[in-house]
Amino acid sequence: MVKVVKFGGTSLASAEVIQQVASIIKEDEDRRYVILSAPGKRFKEDDKVTDLLIAVHEQREKGQDTTDTLTRIEERFQSIVQGLGIDFDVKKEIDTIRSHMQEEPSLDYLASRGEYLNAKIFAEYMGWPFVDACDLIRFHQSGMLNESITYAFAERMLEQYDRAVIPGFYGAGNNGLIKTFSRGGSDITGAIVARAVKADVYENWTDVNGFMSADPRIISDPKQIDIISYRELRELSYMGASVLHEDSIFPLRNTGIPILIKNTMNPKAKGTTIVSRYPVNMHTHAVTGIAGKKGFSNLQIEMAMMNSRIGFGAKVLQIIADNGISYEHTPTSIDIMSIIAETQYFDKTRNKVIMEIDEAFHPDRIFLEDGIALIAIVGEGISKNVGIAAKVIQCFADAKVNIRMIDAGCSELNIIVGVEDADYEKAIRALYDRLYEYF
Ligand code: ASP
Repeated sequence: MVKVVKFGGTSLASAEVIQQVASIIKEDEDRRYVILSAPGKRFKEDDKVTDLLIAVHEQREKGQDTTDTLTRIEERFQSIVQGLGIDFDVKKEIDTIRSHMQEEPSLDYLASRGEYLNAKIFAEYMGWPFVDACDLIRFHQSGMLNESITYAFAERMLEQYDRAVIPGFYGAGNNGLIKTFSRGGSDITGAIVARAVKADVYENWTDVNGFMSADPRIISDPKQIDIISYRELRELSYMGASVLHEDSIFPLRNTGIPILIKNTMNPKAKGTTIVSRYPVNMHTHAVTGIAGKKGFSNLQIEMAMMNSRIGFGAKVLQIIADNGISYEHTPTSIDIMSIIAETQYFDKTRNKVIMEIDEAFHPDRIFLEDGIALIAIVGEGISKNVGIAAKVIQCFADAKVNIRMIDAGCSELNIIVGVEDADYEKAIRALYDRLYEYF
């Protein structure tokens, strides 16, 4: 069996937790390819090493002195090396970064050094080979991952190693220079490596027990999700973003390799397994989770005979697109079209969009209202169970929450309800209690 394991920044913030990581790896012979983030925060006010490295770049750009920030980075790694009791020349590495900054003064080069150094130190501590991510991961000039080259390189390279420590977060552009993913991107590196070595599982070790079925800031101690499909996770993405980088599902989507979210601080906890598809005949919960977000707006257009005007919707959406607005839903009725999008998109374009639609179609009525919260009730089992939608609607009525919009997604795995921002928390609490038996 082959397990690829990725550890996040809080799991690597000090020598103490790094030792804990090492013992988790040693506990299971199958944990053979290790992907590491840069050291994260040890306590709330602490700095993430990646943030310090980005600060060095900013200081350099502004012509400011970078000595203090580089010293802080050096001290973070020195304390790790000392705590681990290994012989590793941190100073030499920082000097290399300092001189390399002259030749390759890019933000990506600097930002990547936290992962690079952490993985080198850990490889030394474990006595395992270090494999640099630049030799595995390649990007197109556009910044997109070059999948064909990456998998060709990664498969060939990793075939030569039975075990390896690999830095997360970066690879190389087609010019050979370092290029990073977006923040939190070590999760993606882990997924790429898992695919390249045809792993049986990709374990993603972080600082929470897994995904929760509802927001713990609203529901105290919500049930944890044991298993969730990719599709469900996407629908719940309003709340899942901080646990796993969304793009890390992409490399594994057609491989059948599950992702297991585990907690470094509580390794005995079961975690959450993310699967591309639920195993056939597996008993799943009808509802997997409830998520939501405030701060949406409804752009509503009313016009007699709208339904017979072929191409009307397409033209409206073109105006929306031309104004750089990403919309979430477009509920329609015979003569009304609504476009629900985050209010921030209308901050600058509000009057312009209304005027453009008005000029193009002269509708009977057009208005934009803010203050809408969207709540998604998500579960692959929703479509197979009778009465869930009825319970949702009754629950809102009982809680005296006015439903502003409802969209039972064509994906058959969610029901989306729009309510006033002010009712958001009340609605989530009422729903959680009413649907508890289905989780
Ligand atoms: N160290 C990077 C960040 O802070 C990447 C990662 O941790 O995944 O975003």
